[in-house]
Amino acid sequence: MENGLRKPSETTGKVITCKAAITWGPGEPFVIEEVKVDPPQKMEVRIKILFTSICHTDLSAWQGENESQRAYPRILGHEASGIVESVGEGVMDIKKGDHVVPIFNGECGDCPYCKCEKTNMCERAGVNPFMTVMVNDGKSRFSCKEGKPIFHFLNTSTFCEYTVVESACVVKIDPGASLKTMTLLSCGVSTGVGAAWNIANVKAGSTVAIFGLGAVGLAVAEGARARGATKIIGVDINPNKFIKGRAMGITDTINPRDFEKPVHECIREMTGGGVDYSFECAGISEVLREAFLSTHEGWGLTVILGIHTSPKMLPLHPMELFTGRVIIATVFGGFKGKTQLPNFAKECMQGVVNLEEFITHELPFEKINEAFQLLIDGKSVRCLLHL
Ligand code: NAD
Ligand code: ZN
Repeated sequence: MENGLRKPSETTGKVITCKAAITWGPGEPFVIEEVKVDPPQKMEVRIKILFTSICHTDLSAWQGENESQRAYPRILGHEASGIVESVGEGVMDIKKGDHVVPIFNGECGDCPYCKCEKTNMCERAGVNPFMTVMVNDGKSRFSCKEGKPIFHFLNTSTFCEYTVVESACVVKIDPGASLKTMTLLSCGVSTGVGAAWNIANVKAGSTVAIFGLGAVGLAVAEGARARGATKIIGVDINPNKFIKGRAMGITDTINPRDFEKPVHECIREMTGGGVDYSFECAGISEVLREAFLSTHEGWGLTVILGIHTSPKMLPLHPMELFTGRVIIATVFGGFKGKTQLPNFAKECMQGVVNLEEFITHELPFEKINEAFQLLIDGKSVRCLLHL
């Protein structure tokens, strides 16, 4: 053993048997089982996962909220960090031993989307909730001891000691960075900060309202604070979130349950007509409507970050857009993962964003069911599981 890794020569090109937390059905407790992980094929990378945390998207996938999420048995998890164990044929930019974070929204670098600076979508490796197998051969790299294939999730499947991902979904991180905190860049923090920086382009002196103060919403607050927003209103039905929020850029708080009138009316009163930017980070249709109505007429911008259950339509009448309010959504905060994340990681290391604050709990991998309960109960922002 070397740094907790099996010696590469022991495993390169071979099937690895290791532990995974498997989801067998919607809402069924995770079962830690031995699984077989195949070697990486052409343009794939096998990663030894060291840390993984739990994002609300894992929670809704576990509960099978959307049709696309109902595929079992499956290895969920998409926010993680680790060390490359081996790489498949043709992978030039990543090598074994590299410190990496997997990204659920990859960047192949070659497709029309990757070549267009206006989007972070990717034809080959972009996020696709319906994808349950590898692009290369349409097969899974995971199987149960008896040989039954186990489905992949969001290009990443990090609730496993080893995972195989497209090389387009692997970002190399400065080996001097703490992998523990870099885990957060794999999803929640990049999504929230990126929404404030890349999508809204929050200006100094502006006003912001954030609906839902989980890791994603708090990351928006960090991003808006770093850009010099002067008023950052945090909206949540769980008042415990305000304590953390105030430590992370939130200047004012609203618990919708404390008011008879709708939240957007409170916000318009507090800001002389509405905020410049609002961010929906709860994935709830009614909340999105409040976020939309809480921005200022003429120039208000609402960014959707929450994942909404289907079938749901936008909760607004087309004529309401004639007020000049704009609505937009983002995956992964608009970051092109492979080209832009290494620089964002550097900025985080310099303290532009305070990553430590997001990790409220740490548990061994075996306690994954406990970690999910912490998120369900609104007690954790991010619980880091040690593999
Ligand atoms: P979380 O569970 O940690 O936080 C959600 C917060 O919303 C909680 O604090 C909860 O109390 C609050 N909330 C619930 N109902 C509310 C209401 N009616 N009004 C105000 N607040 C309310 O979740 P998270 O991990 O921060 O993720 C937030 C959302 O972002 C989820 O929908 C998740 O799936 C989505 N997400 C999207 C992307 C993306 O790329 N767009 C990436 C990551 C997560
Ligand atoms: Zn996520």
